[in-house]
Amino acid sequence: GEGEGSPAAVLEELHSAGLMPHRMLFSVSIADEAGRIVAGTHPGNGASIAGMDYFENARQDDRMIVGRPRLGDGEWRLTFSRSITDSGGAFGGTVAVSVHAGYFVSGYEADVLGEHGVLGLVGRDGIFRAMRTGDSVSAGTIVGFESLVPDDIIGSEPTTRIENSPWDDVPRYTFTRELFEYPVAIVVGLARSEQLAPATDLQRTYLWRAAAVSAVVVLLVAVLGGMGWQLQRARARVVDERIAHARQVEYMAFHDNLTGLPNRAYFSRTLSDEMQRVKRYRRRLALLFLDLDRFKTINDSLGHDAGDELLQEMGRRLRESVRESDIVARLGGDEFVILLPELSEPGQATTVAEKVLATVARPFAIAGQEFRVTVSIGVSLFPGDGEDEQTLMKNADVAMYHAKEQGKNNFQFYSEELNTDSLERLALESSLRNALAQQEFRLYYQTKQDMTTGRVTGMEALLRWQHPDLGLIAPMQFIPLAEETGLIVPIGRWVLYTACRQNVAWQSKGMEHLPVAVNLSARQFLDDNLLRDVAGALNESGMPAELLELEITESMIMHDMPRAIRILADLKALGVRIAIDDFGTGYSSLSKLKDFPVDTIKIDGSFIHDLDRSAESMSLTEAIIDLGRSLSLTVVAEGVETAEQVEFLRTHTCDQFQGFFAAHPLPPDEFTTALRTLPGHSERVEPSNP
Ligand code: C2E
Ligand code: CA
Ligand code: CA
Repeated sequence: GEGEGSPAAVLEELHSAGLMPHRMLFSVSIADEAGRIVAGTHPGNGASIAGMDYFENARQDDRMIVGRPRLGDGEWRLTFSRSITDSGGAFGGTVAVSVHAGYFVSGYEADVLGEHGVLGLVGRDGIFRAMRTGDSVSAGTIVGFESLVPDDIIGSEPTTRIENSPWDDVPRYTFTRELFEYPVAIVVGLARSEQLAPATDLQRTYLWRAAAVSAVVVLLVAVLGGMGWQLQRARARVVDERIAHARQVEYMAFHDNLTGLPNRAYFSRTLSDEMQRVKRYRRRLALLFLDLDRFKTINDSLGHDAGDELLQEMGRRLRESVRESDIVARLGGDEFVILLPELSEPGQATTVAEKVLATVARPFAIAGQEFRVTVSIGVSLFPGDGEDEQTLMKNADVAMYHAKEQGKNNFQFYSEELNTDSLERLALESSLRNALAQQEFRLYYQTKQDMTTGRVTGMEALLRWQHPDLGLIAPMQFIPLAEETGLIVPIGRWVLYTACRQNVAWQSKGMEHLPVAVNLSARQFLDDNLLRDVAGALNESGMPAELLELEITESMIMHDMPRAIRILADLKALGVRIAIDDFGTGYSSLSKLKDFPVDTIKIDGSFIHDLDRSAESMSLTEAIIDLGRSLSLTVVAEGVETAEQVEFLRTHTCDQFQGFFAAHPLPPDEFTTALRTLPGHSERVEPSNP
């Protein structure tokens, strides 16, 4: 019935107490002792679940039951259930929570687990409740539970073993952890082919990360376990701290640690469900995509802690500027989104955007300093600006970029024209096109130095655009556009010719013969004329080929490996050196490194930056140095800013370093001046570790 104490009333009560798991992710139903559904968050009253394994098993067993996976509407679903006892203590029915199986393995990241790894949840009955490898999610595969979780390790510390997975025979490092209170275990595996044998430290790092992924699953199971319990208690009208605990656990799985806002996983699920709902009821919703202006500058100048504090305060302010029913989430970095699920007219989105701009504009007091930040906002509407969640997000993002181009600190609605042929973009593109003819590009040079002697070992050429109105523009602001439009090819050619010419000019003035490194973009690397351009730059300037080093990134070679190997072999045949830039950021394919003819690896600055605060960055840095050593490569650390970082790298026998600690990138004349002040450029200095 509908009266007080009825199942429906209990659900309602749990809901108003904020104790129900989110209805967009979970559906909850209560069945009576005959298996007839008497209440639920989703339609289905009156239907019978008698005969279903999760009902029948709950009848026998008062612990939590993890039902067998079922396929419905093309998606695997899992149902967790547990029995409810009636006032006399007899079986009074079940409470069941159903959720997409894919959700449990949504923590699978290709970066961490590779394309052939595995993340899964397996029942004690040996049936996989969810299993993911690469992008493919499955369920129902049957294996022997004991083969995955041998008796002797049940309940003990998780161990790692290498063996062929019984379901697909792929050799993997497998790691299994039983969830003590529940009849399931987490399986995490890394394909051996995607692992690098020499870098054992690196492997350990991966496994730690994988363990973090499985923690999410552990949390989810705990939440679901807590649910049935909550329901029984709510019936008895007893609420104690265990409920608070269960809520806390659920909260952690769906929220961003830093700001406490919903995270990306939660948001994308919410968005697609809200879109379904809006479609059904012929309503509209708006999506606001926010990106802080100049956040990187703040982070760089005030430090990460201040940056974090700013993001937290930002989260609070955004939350304040919207209604309770609106959803604010943090996607990562300095990107936030706001979903307005109940829009009566588009003007409402304008009101919210204006309010957000005003709220953000209030000064922030952080790290004893008062400063202001602004935000750029892009708005997309549904229906209209995208049929699915990804398109709607992408278009809000496009509109946000438009807001940035409009001078930041404003909002823009998405429109068709924005997508490809916006006038502003055309203007930027044509000024970029002219920049070459107008001779607006400059090359700055930054030294690389020997780790022990401090001696300058070479330099890297870094591109700048001296824009007539906008001033000096950093490469990250225009290289993506240059890359997209293909302009990077002639610009890159100019860089090659100029760097070689400058190098020879310096030599003819009596400067020591130092190698110069030039960055290549993806498009340049794949350009058919690359070889001709490199040879041309060397011939025209007369620079010896061994003084030129070309910097490419891992992703460029991984894209099409056979082709990359051919290009690299051709370049090597000219006599130039090859460096892998930003090393460590695309680490899923490290194992392939030995197949490529490279001379140098440059450890990405982000690891160096975090050396003093992250054990993981430390072990990765060490592992990369070891890896470089084992392959006889020169290892260069980038972004070195402090004496402590130098010390660490020196102790771990890194070969060279580059960074603000020694020198900033400088225009040619200042570069030569700076060289004179650096140790060991032409005169030898004493090694600091004799
Ligand atoms: P990159 O190749 O990783 O270059 C290193 C970047 O780190 C440079 O930024 C440099 O100024 C900066 N940097 C150097 N030392 C430090 C330090 O101690 N701390 C910090 N925080 N940063 C440091 P920049 O010059 O803005 O260049 C950014 C990126 O643009 C480069 O990253 C490279 O990927 C690209 N790029 C630069 N010049 C060219 C070019 O001529 N062609 C192509 N295709 N890409 C280029
Ligand atoms: Ca570089
Ligand atoms: Ca780099």
